[in-house]
Amino acid sequence: MHSNPRILVVEDSASVQAYLGALLQHAGYHDPIMKQSIEEVLEWLQDLTPEQTPDLVLTDVHLPGKDGIEGLRILKETPVFFEVPFIVMTADDSDDIVGRAFKEGAMDFVRKPFRNVELVARIGAALQLKSQIERRRDRERELLELIEQMETANIDLGVKSRMDYLTGAANRLALDDYLARAWNESLAQGTVLGVLMIDLDYFKKFNDHYGHRAGDEALKKVAGVLDASLRRPGDLTARYGGEEFTLVLPGTGESGLHSVAERVRSRVYKLAIPNEGSPHTVVTLSIGGACEIPTPSSSWTSLISRADEALYRAKSDGRNRYAYHKT
Ligand code: GH3
Ligand code: MG
Ligand code: MG
Ligand code: MG
Repeated sequence: MHSNPRILVVEDSASVQAYLGALLQHAGYHDPIMKQSIEEVLEWLQDLTPEQTPDLVLTDVHLPGKDGIEGLRILKETPVFFEVPFIVMTADDSDDIVGRAFKEGAMDFVRKPFRNVELVARIGAALQLKSQIERRRDRERELLELIEQMETANIDLGVKSRMDYLTGAANRLALDDYLARAWNESLAQGTVLGVLMIDLDYFKKFNDHYGHRAGDEALKKVAGVLDASLRRPGDLTARYGGEEFTLVLPGTGESGLHSVAERVRSRVYKLAIPNEGSPHTVVTLSIGGACEIPTPSSSWTSLISRADEALYRAKSDGRNRYAYHKT
């Protein structure tokens, strides 16, 4: 609402118009807009700018052309007037007129001849109500925006707290949750659960030689290859920590693990990321695999331990290879 409320007066009598003009000025409502008919208002509306929108309309009922109530109905349908209060003035306060006025959305009704104090008081009350409605609507909009912001922040937090920042793979928290869930599902269905533990070879030397930034880039590339090598929707790539990754492969047994491990190992080898410190001269992976049909007396932690044991064997057998832990 404008700091100096703008009042639109629709009144055909020149003397009443002059009287109202003086009264409104005196009450602090400067420069009221004076119109003599609804037609004149509609014409004025054609090139009305938002700043010129009135804050309140004071309309006579008996007017040449469309009457004030018909005008109220028409104006209330134009967006600029949706929230503008109308006060209707008339000497004819028959039930019919009053009923029509309120039915078309008038906020208030003043009998002519009006008492100055009463008219000014009703204008003040209508304007106050309008500004309250506007304040409430603004507050509501702010609240909705806030809720929206908080919701997206929450979703982000939820996703980010489960994602490894560097590689975009699932992090350790997500891995543990996922393993527990996959374990229980396999237990319930009597199906096999496979895991691969993966460790980059001679990676300390890589960092020492090329720097940690280059090391980070290599880790990202390897994570990309891992993720691209998985084929089933239930498969998960996770960063176990440091330069170690875990693949969770539900429904994948010994031969399936072998083929995924070999695919991953050879793809990373073919990336041919130079590693001066390695006898293989490029970045390579050692991989350990294990699988199990869960039983109530076993747990996923022992499955991981067995894959880890196989990984150490792959390391001691010369790295850049896959080893499987038989049950
Ligand atoms: P091995 O072949 O026996 O696995 O030798 P390695 O050097 O890979 O193993 P080691 O455990 O001695 O060192 C792991 C290295 O991985 C040490 C550390 O600098 C590096 N590393 C771990 N996490 C990150 C990381 O987020 N970024 C980078 N750049 N390097 C990392
Ligand atoms: Mg009149
Ligand atoms: Mg390691
Ligand atoms: Mg290593």
